Amino acid sequence: MGNEILEEIISLIKEPTDENIDLIKRAYNFAQKAHEEQKRFSGEPYIIHPLQVAKNLAELKADPITIAAGLLHDTIEDTTVTKEDIKKEFGENILFLVLGVSKLGELKYRGMKKHAESLRRILVAMAEDIRVIIIKLADRLHNVRTLDYVPKQKRKRIALETLEIYAPLANRLGMGKLKGLLEDASFPYVYPEEYSKVVKLRKSRGKESIKHLEKVYRLLETKIAEAGMKSVHIEYRIKYLYSLYKKLLRYNMDIEKIFDISALRVIVDNMSDCYQVLGIIHSVWRPVPGRLKDYIANPKPNGYQSIHTSIFIGDRHIAEIQIRSKEMHHEAEYGVASHIIYDESGKPRAGGKMAKKMTWISELVDWQKEVSHSGHFIKALKNDFIQNRIFVFTPKGDVIELPTDATPIDFAYAIHSDIGNHAAGARVNNKYVALNHKLKNNDLVEIEKKKNSRPTRRWLNFAKTQTAKRHIKSYLQRDKESKN
Ligand code: MN
Repeated sequence: MGNEILEEIISLIKEPTDENIDLIKRAYNFAQKAHEEQKRFSGEPYIIHPLQVAKNLAELKADPITIAAGLLHDTIEDTTVTKEDIKKEFGENILFLVLGVSKLGELKYRGMKKHAESLRRILVAMAEDIRVIIIKLADRLHNVRTLDYVPKQKRKRIALETLEIYAPLANRLGMGKLKGLLEDASFPYVYPEEYSKVVKLRKSRGKESIKHLEKVYRLLETKIAEAGMKSVHIEYRIKYLYSLYKKLLRYNMDIEKIFDISALRVIVDNMSDCYQVLGIIHSVWRPVPGRLKDYIANPKPNGYQSIHTSIFIGDRHIAEIQIRSKEMHHEAEYGVASHIIYDESGKPRAGGKMAKKMTWISELVDWQKEVSHSGHFIKALKNDFIQNRIFVFTPKGDVIELPTDATPIDFAYAIHSDIGNHAAGARVNNKYVALNHKLKNNDLVEIEKKKNSRPTRRWLNFAKTQTAKRHIKSYLQRDKESKN
């Protein structure tokens, strides 16, 4: 069985050079020998676990070094293998990754207080090398998929932690596919009744919905061909179970209100083709008012890009269609895992979209050092970084990323502490607003500065970001000291 999985992994490598294949095989043989005596809770030989983790990584389009580190990820922690052994066989880089994953693992199964500490470690590791967290996420995916074999009292905790921390992290890193897989594997352990309900709903409604989509599929294919467009790929996409569940919750569990259980996805060569396909669709079917979402012009906070539209397809039926380029598709499914750039020393370097994500992570690491209380830390983490983010604009057109419900105060401090400390008023989309006004995605924000304006204690009630809160508190503190 091990060899079969190994062959699959090799068939999935992006650049199957002799060197890369040899690396994977050596890592496999090394791990196989190291784990020889061990078994999983399931009774299977232990090596199946690192193999499945490596396969998850290969499916996420990770590079061969990350895949090899995935094969080796439990050797230092669980076997007699030492750091020196790994370094000698595989070099500094792979050792760094294996150690990074091992450090994250040390604290497992030790209660909630340690949980915050392990999160902190995740973040620090992420900032040092994002591949550590990618391996950790792939490891977690196999662990939640095999929860049935784990002692019962541990299952729910692991699954809940996956839903609350790991899946949102995957999402934040733009790894949409991994997020969906993590959530769907955890869902039955956390909400068993809701899970079986949603499974049934998706099965019955999904079939119906695909039947309607088939007609759309055929006509759309013809129209696209008539327009002379080439290399257009159309597929069905079925909504992930947990994602469907969350949407049902928003609609009072009323399945009639959900039109995207299944949808058509059109994948084209480039951005302008996306808009051409949209034009074709809207000229054949009438679009449902208010349902067109252009995430190409206005990407989601995690970088997601696509056009979504819903159309009337007769008999009061509605179909959802998503349009995106190949590149956008790749980005939406695999996110950072698939485009890490390396420098000469083999260290990952931030570039392009990756750079933006790295900024987010290092910002997170920066302030986590200052948050001492564990409970506060988790709360702040969930509020500030994992939940939804919005993008707003400066008058110059620069984009500022903020958490949902952020205010002009957060915006001001995000630009410069001096602007924050002297903010007197704000205009949003050319209208004056109060400083506690809640900003929305795409708002254009201007801050009015006055020399004698000062932060007040009241600001702390509506500042959302740690940056703003920290500056306000330190101003108030200094003010107090100077008065004494
Ligand atoms: Mn593991």
